[in-house]
Amino acid sequence: MINIKKSIEEIKPYKVNNKECCIKLDANESSYLLKNFTLDMNNLKPNLYPDSDSTLLRSNMAKYYGCKSKNIIVGNGSSELILTIINAFCEPNENIMTFHPSFSMYEIYSKLTSTNHIKIDSEDNYSFDTDKIIEYTDIYNPKIIIICNPNNPTGYYIEKEEIIRILDSINNTVVIMDEAYIDFGGDSTVDLINEYDNIIIMRTLSKAFGLAGMRIGCMISNENFIEELWKMKLPYNLNSASQIIANKYFEKIDEIKDNINRIIEERDKLSYKLKELGLKTYPSKGNFIMVETKINSFSKKLEEKGILIRDFTKIIKNHYRITVGTEEENKYLIKEVKELIKWEKV
Ligand code: PMP
Repeated sequence: MINIKKSIEEIKPYKVNNKECCIKLDANESSYLLKNFTLDMNNLKPNLYPDSDSTLLRSNMAKYYGCKSKNIIVGNGSSELILTIINAFCEPNENIMTFHPSFSMYEIYSKLTSTNHIKIDSEDNYSFDTDKIIEYTDIYNPKIIIICNPNNPTGYYIEKEEIIRILDSINNTVVIMDEAYIDFGGDSTVDLINEYDNIIIMRTLSKAFGLAGMRIGCMISNENFIEELWKMKLPYNLNSASQIIANKYFEKIDEIKDNINRIIEERDKLSYKLKELGLKTYPSKGNFIMVETKINSFSKKLEEKGILIRDFTKIIKNHYRITVGTEEENKYLIKEVKELIKWEKV
């Protein structure tokens, strides 16, 4: 057999739990659908290539995110675009820096691009020390820093003033702000793109918009960066069906905002209830909560009850990430956690 590149051989692929389950709270998807949403697929012309520039979608995104269409490139989810950016900026063996724990794909991107991944450990309660990022930038001179804000899987959020302090303190390093979860309560940094020439913001329609299945994400930056990065974009990279559906969703933006508010309310309720049951919860600005519990095989036991959550115990002992579901899903989850606790005590 012909060998694949050494750097790729050692990658542990990103695995997804494909088990059929009634309540899926493991992938930070949205359980909140638009009411009475119908789509006239007669507009879809599957024989023709899609609009390669995603013109209407970029214009809708620009209005929502507060920038211009010329500041945006769209792609098949923000995950694909982060890799594109690293490929555009980094030579092999250059450094990429992230906090830890954070989105596990960053490690994989680093391996795929033969770059070195420098990880900055988080502090107590998984907060991030922004002084460390400035200090480590001096030491390691990374080409790219990726800041996941709010952070997946912990939910920790860095205030915008702190991000500005980082941007004011570093030069010659691209700062990627991964704002996949910013719609759930944080302050976006999109308005900084014309003030700082080294910031790129990632947004996605997979979380707050509930369109994970359509694979739509974007990068937002100053015109010069976008012009350069456009060279990396493959033609027709976002299919027609995704573009049509996303544009229809933007017509329902008020309903989407209502759903976001319901998720925030449910998140805070769920966090309170889990804490009441004795689980340690961490403050979250995402659509998920990280919990710590000594209940044995916590996620496996919930899976037996038809609830999928994400097991992080291999990365952080006794820790799990739970996506916020609908009110009914969260109630069912709480009921089953109560049962588990009862049996643990027997
Ligand atoms: N960034 C973070 C922090 C994420 O958690 C995810 C999805 N889990 C992504 C990016 C990728 O999102 P998309 O669906 O847009 O590829």
